[in-house]
Amino acid sequence: MIILSVETSCDETSVAITRDGKDVLSNAVLSQIKIHERFGGVVPEVASRAHIESILYMFDEAIQQANIQVSDIDLVAVTKGPGLIGSLLVGINAATSFAYANKIPIIGVNHLLGHIYAAQIEGDMKFPLLTLLVSGGHTELLLVKDHLEIELLGTTLDDAVGEAYDKVARILGLPYPGGPLVDKLAHTGKAIYNLPKPFLKNEPYNFSFSGLKSAVLNLVHNMKQKEVPFLVEDVCASFQEVVTEVLVEKTKNAANLLGVKQIIVAGGVAANKGLRFKMFERLPDFEILIPHIRYCTDQAAMIGIAAYYQYQKDKGTGDYFIKGDSSLNFYRS
Ligand code: ATP
Ligand code: MG
Ligand code: FE
Repeated sequence: MIILSVETSCDETSVAITRDGKDVLSNAVLSQIKIHERFGGVVPEVASRAHIESILYMFDEAIQQANIQVSDIDLVAVTKGPGLIGSLLVGINAATSFAYANKIPIIGVNHLLGHIYAAQIEGDMKFPLLTLLVSGGHTELLLVKDHLEIELLGTTLDDAVGEAYDKVARILGLPYPGGPLVDKLAHTGKAIYNLPKPFLKNEPYNFSFSGLKSAVLNLVHNMKQKEVPFLVEDVCASFQEVVTEVLVEKTKNAANLLGVKQIIVAGGVAANKGLRFKMFERLPDFEILIPHIRYCTDQAAMIGIAAYYQYQKDKGTGDYFIKGDSSLNFYRS
């Protein structure tokens, strides 16, 4: 089954062609980072307009790169949320029009489901499995009992991990998005600063990162005020040390509590080299699936992979959307 998928939930305009929930035939991604950099973050209205300007080119790009014909496409999939509403609408309208014009069925896919299913490109899911979803807007531990049967175990009580990375980067005067840069600098620095480790011992599945972010803010502020020389790299290393420690230990603990054998780490922060290394190093008794770095941050291939499983589950019911979801009317030829 050939699926054309569209993802425009935030600041990446992306269209992909995938086959049978496994093979990525093309994954065209246009990042708007350069456009939003000067604002220090994503400006929703600017993002929507940039999506409008490039979305049709991305359709052509994905189809050409995959070397297929439009008539080969069996299903269209599009991110229906969560995300910036104006940005989502650009992708939804483009995908719906494309599906309508070519008489192809279309389904809406949850963006977070896409992040989880990016792992399926690396290897087969074995249920029940534990997922640590770490992205710009979410930090969650999820029990995946079967395809699309997902139970939320816990979440962050305040900041998402990616958000904490971006805020720490901002404190250090680094450009947006700071996550990848903090990661890079952390590897050349030393974790010499003692920062609080938010384990939330009585809440095994929940997280909290705003206290840690404030501790970094205070540390940097005090050093600057007292004119104590410091290396940005050392602050990055100290912050990353704590974040990865908390994420890995809490995941290990949850996996043991639940008795699962496989663990997925997904979302933009799963691209973090320190986190990837520590997961494999500290959890040798589990099978760990982490998407390739290019499939961790937002792109449409992950939506196409998730769509395949969603379609397998929903087909025949005539309702291709997740039940109870009225966020989008769908067209079916
Ligand atoms: P969500 O998926 O929750 O809706 P989003 O789509 O904006 O949010 P993603 O694209 O999944 O988020 O991830 C982007 C986030 O990942 C940003 O906060 C970014 O700083 C962070 N990130 C990306 N690469 C790394 C890295 N190597 N280390 C740490 N953080 C990273
Ligand atoms: Mg992005
Ligand atoms: Fe995302």
